[in-house]
Amino acid sequence: MSAGTITLLVSTAAAVIVVAVLCMVLVQRLRQQSSQLDASRDRFSKLLEHFPDAVLGTDGDGVVVAANPRSAAITRRSVEDLVGRSFFDLITAESHEAVHEQCRRMAESDRPAVTTVIDLIDRDGVGRPVEFSLLAVGDEQIPDHDGLSEIVVLLRDVSDREATSEALDQARRWFQRAFHSAPTGMALVRMDDDRIVDVNQSLADLLDHSRRYLLGRSMRELTHIDDLRTVTAERARLELGLEDSYRTEQRYLRRDGDFVWTKTQVAVIEEDGVSLAITHVEDITEQRGIAEQLSHAATHDSLTELPNRGSIVARLDELLMSADVDEVAVLFIDLDNFKMINDSLGHGIGDEVLRQVARRFRSEMRVGDQLARFGGDEFVVFVDGTTRHADETGEIRLGPLEPERVADRLQRSIADAIEIDGHEVIVTASIGFATNSTPGVSAAEMLRAADAAMYRAKGEGRDRIARFTDEVLAQSDRYLQTTNDLRRALARDELVPYFQPIVELATGDTTKFEVLVRWEHPERGLLGPEDFVPNAEMTGLMIELGAHILRDALAQLASWRAHDHPWGKASLSVNLSTQQLADPNFAVVVQEALGSNGIEPSALWFEITETTLLSDVTAATRALRKLRGLGVHLSVDDFGTGYSSLTYLKKFPVEAIKIDRSFVDGIGIDGDDSSIVEGVIRLGHSLGLQVIAEGVETPLQLELLRSMGADAGQGYLFGRPVPVGQLELDQST
Ligand code: C2E
Ligand code: CA
Ligand code: CA
Repeated sequence: MSAGTITLLVSTAAAVIVVAVLCMVLVQRLRQQSSQLDASRDRFSKLLEHFPDAVLGTDGDGVVVAANPRSAAITRRSVEDLVGRSFFDLITAESHEAVHEQCRRMAESDRPAVTTVIDLIDRDGVGRPVEFSLLAVGDEQIPDHDGLSEIVVLLRDVSDREATSEALDQARRWFQRAFHSAPTGMALVRMDDDRIVDVNQSLADLLDHSRRYLLGRSMRELTHIDDLRTVTAERARLELGLEDSYRTEQRYLRRDGDFVWTKTQVAVIEEDGVSLAITHVEDITEQRGIAEQLSHAATHDSLTELPNRGSIVARLDELLMSADVDEVAVLFIDLDNFKMINDSLGHGIGDEVLRQVARRFRSEMRVGDQLARFGGDEFVVFVDGTTRHADETGEIRLGPLEPERVADRLQRSIADAIEIDGHEVIVTASIGFATNSTPGVSAAEMLRAADAAMYRAKGEGRDRIARFTDEVLAQSDRYLQTTNDLRRALARDELVPYFQPIVELATGDTTKFEVLVRWEHPERGLLGPEDFVPNAEMTGLMIELGAHILRDALAQLASWRAHDHPWGKASLSVNLSTQQLADPNFAVVVQEALGSNGIEPSALWFEITETTLLSDVTAATRALRKLRGLGVHLSVDDFGTGYSSLTYLKKFPVEAIKIDRSFVDGIGIDGDDSSIVEGVIRLGHSLGLQVIAEGVETPLQLELLRSMGADAGQGYLFGRPVPVGQLELDQST
């Protein structure tokens, strides 16, 4: 019974007492003071007229002798109709016994008021529950009605209250039904001991348990360990009464060991003095999955699945904040020939190369190393020297910060050719690194330093590792300066071809000129290719620069021919960079340059280094075939410095090889060099290739080369690379 019900009953009893006492006094007065009988009866009637409950006076037989208007109202009869009727006619047969019982108890104990509920029947035969209490006011000596004579009956309509409690019952039933048929998981949990008192099937299904298993279990043991702290805090707020409900996103454990992400809502209700938590559990595992994927997508590179630039910069900044000086190293990695792979083999293969490189790099990561893709063919690794490693003895030590070794391992991890769809792709990487040598350095500053060092590594010939130093900084400033200047220089024609003769050893005739680029810098003087070609390659300017030199050189040849100069009969040998070879538009550039100068393709040779050819054999073969198809000739430059694979030579449509200067240097002095040169000449010839020796500086070298059967020679002995004016001057003297 609820507190409300009790209050209601107490107040009812009090009202009954008041009325009963009042009636008693009045009736007694009626009897004792018969002289005032009529007047009293009037007052009695008036009082009863406005009384909110039904009051009936009956005689000892239960016949109604007086009734107030409220009695008429609840029985839907008139007062006149009521008077003279038996009270028992007004109630259901089932209620008779209750009334008799009350009368008996009243007679025995003489207690003033006892309340019970009986059913009244109105005029239309409709039953209505009323609270019934009675009071004997008659002479107890006359036992004519269950031992009572005159009785005052008090009736209070409780159908409203009945309806309310019935509504409550109904609500309970609905709640039960809603609870058990709800598609979302629900549980009723005792707040005091966290035990589940009821649970629906949906929650049981969600947790992969039976309802029986769950009943009596604590919610804590079903909660994911990482969510306990939050849930406990929320529960404490409920218990302290700071809140009466809360919502969380939390995980529950399933029987199969998995967990489910849920949106859980808890509200407290009081039931019979016990605090219960109504717990709603909605499965959001799928949404969480999508949300997690989205956040993964925001912080990761979709191609390689590595963390992206944004996320690694944030992590690096965080690490730098807590790290001591020289505890963190950043490595900046740039693939050397990726653009060529991408341009010549297509983006599909390019992407696969990046994926495989990422995989190989990843397998080199130790605890505390972080790898990210920075975009394009750039990767970043940071080495966290604050990470402590457990060694075999179980001792915890500071891990060594060894950026060079990490860089070296990364380079070696990609040394083996990557095979994709029958293509053998060789990728190399230039790596620069920097350490946090000054306190408070930011991620951005470290990345800039490592990036500058990486450019240093590129400038040193690629596939190198360079550490950041102040000198690197100066160089990187110079580098930026050079890039800007180079663009301007192209526009101002400061880049000019120099010519170096290539001489037929049998006849001594100059049959070819190698075209070598120079930069006539207005302030810095004459610059050689090593000062700006690597830069131009990195910035993509090489394509434009190469085309410029090619056109100028061909224009020169056309001019010699126009002036009937004997060199008009020579051919030109132009160096091709990796970028130019990979440029899908390059063949068109060549055709235009030849066409506009009226030069036939057979007067033009291209020199391609071994390294460029072997960086991607398939792509290079395709590009070379296209050029050869135009009618130009092709030669392999710097032969011997790269992979020196003669078997590859058979695959390429090349007609000549140029033996690198470093071998020619040693002939006659170094036995090995002599035999290498001799071997290359023989093998070249057996493949039907012309063999040209570079760097011929002495008559002895010339003599030996001639005896070994080399076809042509190039070097200071015959002439240095010179601008065309100088060349003509030399010739005329
Ligand atoms: P390379 O193709 O091997 O060019 C031959 C280099 O050897 C030239 O250096 C030349 O000056 C030098 N040389 C020639 N004879 C001798 C000699 O007897 N002794 C010594 N010690 N050196 C000799 P250079 O002009 O400084 O060119 C360096 C490299 O730059 C070239 O090597 C070539 O790979 C590249 N290069 C030059 N011009 C161009 C160009 O227009 N386009 C491209 N893509 N690369 C170019
Ligand atoms: Ca060359
Ligand atoms: Ca060369």
